Amino acid sequence: MTFPVVGMVGGGQLARMTHEAGIPLGISFKLLSDTPQDSAAQVVSDVVIGDYRDLDTLREFARGCDVITFDHEHVPFEHLRALEADGVVLRPGPDALVHAQNKGVMRARLMEIGAPCPRHRIVTDPADVTAFAEEVGGFPVILKTVQGGYDGKGVWFVRTPEEAADPFRAGVAVLAEEKVDFVRELAANVVRSPHGQAVAYPVVESRQVDGVCDTVIAPAPGLDSELAGQAQELALRIAGELGVIGHLAVELFEAVDADGRRRILVNELAMRPHNSGHWTQDGAITSQFANHVRAVLDLPLGDPRPRATWTVMCNVLGGDYPDMYGAYLHCMARDPQLKIHMYGKDVKPGRKVGHVNTYGEDLDDVLERARHAAGYLRGTITE
Ligand code: ADP
Repeated sequence: MTFPVVGMVGGGQLARMTHEAGIPLGISFKLLSDTPQDSAAQVVSDVVIGDYRDLDTLREFARGCDVITFDHEHVPFEHLRALEADGVVLRPGPDALVHAQNKGVMRARLMEIGAPCPRHRIVTDPADVTAFAEEVGGFPVILKTVQGGYDGKGVWFVRTPEEAADPFRAGVAVLAEEKVDFVRELAANVVRSPHGQAVAYPVVESRQVDGVCDTVIAPAPGLDSELAGQAQELALRIAGELGVIGHLAVELFEAVDADGRRRILVNELAMRPHNSGHWTQDGAITSQFANHVRAVLDLPLGDPRPRATWTVMCNVLGGDYPDMYGAYLHCMARDPQLKIHMYGKDVKPGRKVGHVNTYGEDLDDVLERARHAAGYLRGTITE
């Protein structure tokens, strides 16, 4: 029996974990990676080392694949179009992916389909930012380069007209947004297949530290069930309207109106497995990675429901790496239910080098265990 070959562009941890999810299904995986040291390149046997920004490299890579999916959204749009014109099957395809590549395009499309968004517009220079600030009730406002940002890079909190100059230096279009006074950040994650089948995971709370995801709690504690339903429906609608294939993360703000009513606003979209879905590896019946693989191959999707009342994911952010074997001894002995996922990446301060998942019935306990393990693996907790 032969299975189609799934090509993955990008060798990061998302590719590594997607590959892992394909192993039980016997799926052949081919990887296009920048370097042999990349997280996924260390574990996939069929690796092409090359530059995803080079069309010839992409074309050559695509020849050995039946379907191509992505670890990141940085493949130049015109290359995606060219591959599509060659007849290469891309999941998700360029018409969907452009919304995850360009925040200006994303906002325009979300407005068309009536998705709730912060007030925003493309701004041309610092004076225009001041004009925008006046339209939305004054500074501070948020500026974002429409392309190329990740983990808070490419996002500026601008408090004064003077501070508005920086984002324009990159020479990329700049999107201004009102600063949302959110109470917390949520994510609604769904997976959609070419058949049009779709599944929605429980809505999660995502906590960031210095613009980087630190902790995810599934499901979001205390979230109004009606609002949770709205968020799931919204994510399913976005996936359908934009023609997303595979995993879609809809990052959301939960805000409180003047009259005390809670509502959700869309922050941004990611069309690939996402950090806010890592909890599903151990906390859901079918993980985001397994469902992404299924969707990419147009197989029936798996059950997204949780296995436990609470699951917590904490990222291991690079710090002063302790002796890893010693850290494993401690963490595994302390918590036999702990699930550790390390990416094999070189440690740099603040870099995501792994994550842990814990689950159980008591949220305080589940949170404490995840935080302890992530802190210990990072070296900031020593006992
Ligand atoms: P990235 O693409 O780098 O992940 P995001 O657009 O998600 O950038 O923004 C990073 C963080 O900045 C968000 O997680 C949120 O905490 C904050 N942020 C972004 N947009 C707004 C906004 N309009 N109002 C308030 N905070 C925001």
